[in-house]
Amino acid sequence: MRGGKFCEPIGDFDRRVDLEYAFVLPSFGDGHAHPLFAGREMAGPRTTGLTDLGAIVSVVRDFAEANTNVEWIVGGTYDRTLGVNGNFEAAWLDQAVSDRPVVLHARDHHTIWVNSEAMRRAGVNKTTPECTTGLIERFENGDPIGTFREWDAIDLILSKVPARSMSEEIDSLAAASMKMAASGVTWWQDAWIDRGMAEIYLATSKTGRLSQDVDLAFRADPQSWQDDFKYFIAMREGMEASNFVNRLTGRTIKFFTDGIIESGTALLLEPYKDHPESHGMSVWDRAELFKAAAFADSIDFQLHLHAIGDGGVRVALDAIEHVLRVNPVKPRRPVIAHVQLIDESDIARFAQLGVIANFTPVWTCLDLKQDVLSTPRIGQSRSDQQYRMRSLLNSGARISFGSDWPVSTPEPLVGLPTAVHRRTEKGEPSAGWLMHEALTLDEALAAYTSGVAHQSFAENEWGSLEPGMSANFVLVEQNPWTMPIDQISSLRIERTYLRGEPIFERRKS
Ligand SMILES: [Zn+2]
Repeated sequence: MRGGKFCEPIGDFDRRVDLEYAFVLPSFGDGHAHPLFAGREMAGPRTTGLTDLGAIVSVVRDFAEANTNVEWIVGGTYDRTLGVNGNFEAAWLDQAVSDRPVVLHARDHHTIWVNSEAMRRAGVNKTTPECTTGLIERFENGDPIGTFREWDAIDLILSKVPARSMSEEIDSLAAASMKMAASGVTWWQDAWIDRGMAEIYLATSKTGRLSQDVDLAFRADPQSWQDDFKYFIAMREGMEASNFVNRLTGRTIKFFTDGIIESGTALLLEPYKDHPESHGMSVWDRAELFKAAAFADSIDFQLHLHAIGDGGVRVALDAIEHVLRVNPVKPRRPVIAHVQLIDESDIARFAQLGVIANFTPVWTCLDLKQDVLSTPRIGQSRSDQQYRMRSLLNSGARISFGSDWPVSTPEPLVGLPTAVHRRTEKGEPSAGWLMHEALTLDEALAAYTSGVAHQSFAENEWGSLEPGMSANFVLVEQNPWTMPIDQISSLRIERTYLRGEPIFERRKS
């Protein structure tokens, strides 16, 4: 809603609420997030935002001393620009803890940094063979340094971490739900569900501690997808049969087509500048991806594909095109998430194929990650082609926003202005970055509200403030359209409502 005038009630209403001069916005949807991972991470040492290695080591040491009963210390995140080429040595973490295993997630969540004890317990050493989809960073003599990239490599370590109890898992998800509610989010797409995780969503909903409506995207694995679909289908049915205050669905399948640019694992059409022999990592065999995507669609799952490099985006679009060709017409809302690089010839295909491009708006700025980790790998000309939101909107494509939390903050009010001014938190560069791809505030708000509502097939229910819509809205202290754009990120959310019920109320101090 815009403008500051009082509105006369239109038509019938059930209840009158005094909003005390607060400004009303539609509540936000998060079209791509990992709140369970975020909640788990909040239970370990919290190193996000620390700007030197010494500070990280000391937070981990303090956590270990305060939690002597925790056998495996797992936390995060760390800033990859603190290590040369994003490489971090086990010996540095040994200074914090040497007798218990330590695992820290990198900010990208495609990389971990571990201490020597973690590698010893996992049996990872010089003789460990290379991985199919993953990379063990090694010293020249072959010893692993302590940095592991992507699935198979990360799993060498994480598969040894003992499972958490269900009550710990419920606490983690409930903490994530509270953070989302305080950020104004009433629906999210969990974009990575493996075996065991849907049960945590069901159990948390049952306790009433999950406040939002959520759709789960089950991750199809290239090696085990055929078997895993039995689990996905059973869980989807379990959710359809459930009757919680929040609505839980499991109607989506997630595919990773590639990795990330910063690790050299995003799939590129032209080779990497720093490794001219490499185009990056293709997670799937092309024919197998087509087969799995068509199968998922044939049993009425929606498709959600991670694609970062222009090669990854190309194969994601090809897979969707294949599905449209081989399966009958029906309601589909396919999503390609991240879309960091898109070849010019692929721009028009989003609108043609009805593909929603999901962006994380806080990434659309020239931060240290770009300078130190991305641009040296892809070169300046490709670096100047990132996050083409405006080009996609102008082509007629739909866009939606997501946080990718815990990779980035879950707060839409931080992401929204970044899509408009494209500056870092410090306001740099003052003129913005690649401003020809910037959005207006109205367009950015739509991507975080009606855009995500469309992605979730709920555009007639929430995502805008109109008579007849569900009362999903947030109260903020001021009208964002009358404030300087870079102050919107400090605007406070007073309350969040889902279907007319408050799921968050800020305590007055
Ligand atoms: Zn993600």
